[in-house]
Amino acid sequence: MTARHCDNEDESSALKLIDGWAHAKAEISAACNLGPRAASTQMRIAMALRDRLPRTAEVFAQGMVSAKVIAAITWRTQLVTDEEALGLIDAGIAGTAHQYGMLSADALIRAVDFWVHKFDPIAVIRAKAAAKERYIDFGDSDDPDGVVSFWGRMRTTDAAISQARLNDLAHGVCDADPRTVAERRADALAAVLAGADRLTCLCGNPECAGSGKDPRTGAVTIYVLTGQEPDTGHGVTPSAGPTPDDSGTQGPVVPEEPAATQSEDEPQPSTPATPNAPAASMRPGLSAGITLDGAIIPAHLLAELIATGAKVRSLNSATELGSEPRYRPSTALAAFVRMTSMTCCFPGCGKPAQRCDLDHLTPWPAGATHPGNLRPLCREHHLLKTMKTGWTPKARPDGSTTWTAPNGHTYTTMPLAPILFPHNISDVDIPRSRRIILIGERDRDPDIPRRQRTRQHDRDYRINAERTRNATAIALDGDPPF
Ligand SMILES: [Zn+2]
Ligand SMILES: [Zn+2]
Repeated sequence: MTARHCDNEDESSALKLIDGWAHAKAEISAACNLGPRAASTQMRIAMALRDRLPRTAEVFAQGMVSAKVIAAITWRTQLVTDEEALGLIDAGIAGTAHQYGMLSADALIRAVDFWVHKFDPIAVIRAKAAAKERYIDFGDSDDPDGVVSFWGRMRTTDAAISQARLNDLAHGVCDADPRTVAERRADALAAVLAGADRLTCLCGNPECAGSGKDPRTGAVTIYVLTGQEPDTGHGVTPSAGPTPDDSGTQGPVVPEEPAATQSEDEPQPSTPATPNAPAASMRPGLSAGITLDGAIIPAHLLAELIATGAKVRSLNSATELGSEPRYRPSTALAAFVRMTSMTCCFPGCGKPAQRCDLDHLTPWPAGATHPGNLRPLCREHHLLKTMKTGWTPKARPDGSTTWTAPNGHTYTTMPLAPILFPHNISDVDIPRSRRIILIGERDRDPDIPRRQRTRQHDRDYRINAERTRNATAIALDGDPPF
């Protein structure tokens, strides 16, 4: 598939933002139910096996090595550019690869690097951290619910400033604060990033100078999908809709993006957050929430967020929302579409809906601004649809979307909320398209966004840069140790 779209691709096609690679990626994403990145990885592996490592590919085809081993081999050989060296490396690996499955991850890398080093030493990939000078990464697969690990590297002076500031903030609360200093340092970092200049004291004493609303929580909005609201004594009218049984379920929890609050032109749904409202008065019992990134929020953290000032918003039902007269959906409608879909609606794509565009599946004004006609689409997949590349979505009343691919295959994606919170999401009418004739506009091709350089050019450039860096490192420090 990749070769069909990318081999012999002419320059003008390769310079389009939706180039041959993007076309192939969309088809592979849909067929294998993979996100764009994962699809790209599979394509790189496939192309490396097909064009660069044919003998290794044979061993793989015979079932003698695992996909995991193949992924490591194709990755660790990517900097080899010389044809002859590549042939020798391929032969060396193919002859020994059937033994690699027993190796630990580190040993596997060393086994592959052995052959690369033997025939093309500057193509040995250096440790990632050394290449990446400064970075911050979040999230590890082992993280327990409710916390996320992060790690990184910064300039020495920045680290000194950061440490001193975190220590100051951690010690700026009163002695009755129940947290350890380590916990306070972590909380202080988030508070600073949320725009605060101090850490809110959690002693619980309203007289304490350090108490008050926690800016971290103020940046969180909790959307309630069931129509059930925590009882905060503000007399919020629960929205209509099927009544859930007594297991009240909370919906997605969204760290609010500051820009979004500025542009809202609709009256805000009531925000019944009362700082320090006792979490025990929640009605009915909270279960758990989920962030749009898919992380679980355990009930105790959810209760703490509400008690310390998170905004709580109830979603209107689709029937209450109905059609809106303008192109741009209201805040309430946008929230409904994002919180029920939760991700981009293209097959395989897991991009959180909060970071997606809202697309009229049937273009406005023929298609209404209505819950049944709006879907979140990430930039990449929005472009794929808008650029008339042959991908056509169709909305279904249960919130699912059926995509017809350029090759005629169809794929249906389900919104996530009805799966996670099944009590209270009901079918949505799909409004009929209005017949509207746009004189002169009808067959106009959308402007095609272009790249500065082709994808292949960027890749060649990156590989050459990495080879040059390796050559320099070897000249200065000698060969990488084995
Ligand atoms: Zn205090
Ligand atoms: Zn997407």
